[in-house]
Amino acid sequence: MSVHSAQFCSQWRSIMTRVALNVLTVIILLLSRCCDANRKLLVFLIDGFRYDYMDDLQNLAGFREIVENGVKVDYLTPDFPSLSYPNYYSLMTGRHCEVHQMTGNYMWDKDTMKEFLIGTNPDSRLPMWWDGSEPLWVTMQKLGKRVYMYYWPGCEVTILGVQPAFCEEYVYNPSEKNLIDSMESALNMLKSDKADMAGIYYEKIDVEGHHFGPHSPEIQRAIRSLDQAFQTLNQKIKEKNMRDDINVVLFSDHGMTDLKWMEKVIELDNYIDMKYIIKMMDRGPVVSLWPKQDKFEEIYQNLSTVDNMNVYKKQEIPDRFHYKNGRFVSTLTLVAEPGWFITENKAKLPFWKNGTEEAEGWQHGWHGYDNEFMDMRGFFLAQGPDFKTNFRAGPIRTVDVYNVLCKTLGIEPLPNNGSWSRVECMMRSSAGAVRAALIYSCLLPLLLLTL
Ligand SMILES: [Zn+2]
Repeated sequence: MSVHSAQFCSQWRSIMTRVALNVLTVIILLLSRCCDANRKLLVFLIDGFRYDYMDDLQNLAGFREIVENGVKVDYLTPDFPSLSYPNYYSLMTGRHCEVHQMTGNYMWDKDTMKEFLIGTNPDSRLPMWWDGSEPLWVTMQKLGKRVYMYYWPGCEVTILGVQPAFCEEYVYNPSEKNLIDSMESALNMLKSDKADMAGIYYEKIDVEGHHFGPHSPEIQRAIRSLDQAFQTLNQKIKEKNMRDDINVVLFSDHGMTDLKWMEKVIELDNYIDMKYIIKMMDRGPVVSLWPKQDKFEEIYQNLSTVDNMNVYKKQEIPDRFHYKNGRFVSTLTLVAEPGWFITENKAKLPFWKNGTEEAEGWQHGWHGYDNEFMDMRGFFLAQGPDFKTNFRAGPIRTVDVYNVLCKTLGIEPLPNNGSWSRVECMMRSSAGAVRAALIYSCLLPLLLLTL
């Protein structure tokens, strides 16, 4: 062989190697994209579902099937305060309340004098309450993926300039029919590739827990009817042949504890003159007060003598609450002992219309207390191709859930306060590795042949 033909051979081999490597890269990218494209997520946020509400699994066939097919943690510790909006946002951002800034169901901004009120108050849609952190559905939309949300509080809000692809706006206490219809729609959207992730919110367990208490026949009935809905969900997933394509993750924002009739009410009127309070937000386990500056110390001292609650200046709030650095945290925060309820006076208690014209029904359950109080614990279940089956995990925290959701969606989580080490055990971690190993073991011989 001449020197020229040897050089030509070597160049030719080098070109072929480069071509082969490029082709390989494209094939690997296509394969991984096609696997990712099938990875869909359906999330259920079940408001106020306490960790032990499903203890009687023998009589809850829907829950039992999910537990046997997937992962159940012992309990989910909420963020402080153990209220809805703060935890909705911790679940979807992985960040503590003082980081994402959604620190209450009722908030006040002293600079603009605007109020955030639970429910559908127009000022509650202002960006300042929501833009403190980027929730998962916004990240997904920014990545060009589509999120469908049903009755999810806040899905109608433009957050950091973004809205989900679809939002069925929140209404008070969506019905069981709303729940079933949402499930059907969400599964269809996921199966037809119109959605990559869907989220469904359900409030009835919280409503019944408040009205009748966590040990009432009414809450038992509500749990059984939710179980029926999950039986339908399991059936639909099988009928639509989606078991291998969809991860389903279910969780709550907090638990519930008993409120005894009038026995454990703290009336602030008995200790302070409310005319010295510029602003008071919320009643119940956690109350936010902004006293007049010249009366601040006096109010603080008077409230320090009250039994069955703690009063904190902003910087005295325990670090473990991850709350005190929140932008909307008041100058004084009152936190009741479990089972106690703080209000101005008994006339201001949040009675409800229990079938009569007058609001006179006592609320037998409440939440919002110290997030380490057992009754405040929520639940977490998951099933699907990315989760182990029949796997019982230890307790996790609300901020841990975000990393799990990101993992199943194949997206990089934003910086957060969750701990991957608490949730890694529940993932079928081999799934991605096996897929990659298969791709490489098939293609490596090809690569070697071209060299
Ligand atoms: Zn509630």
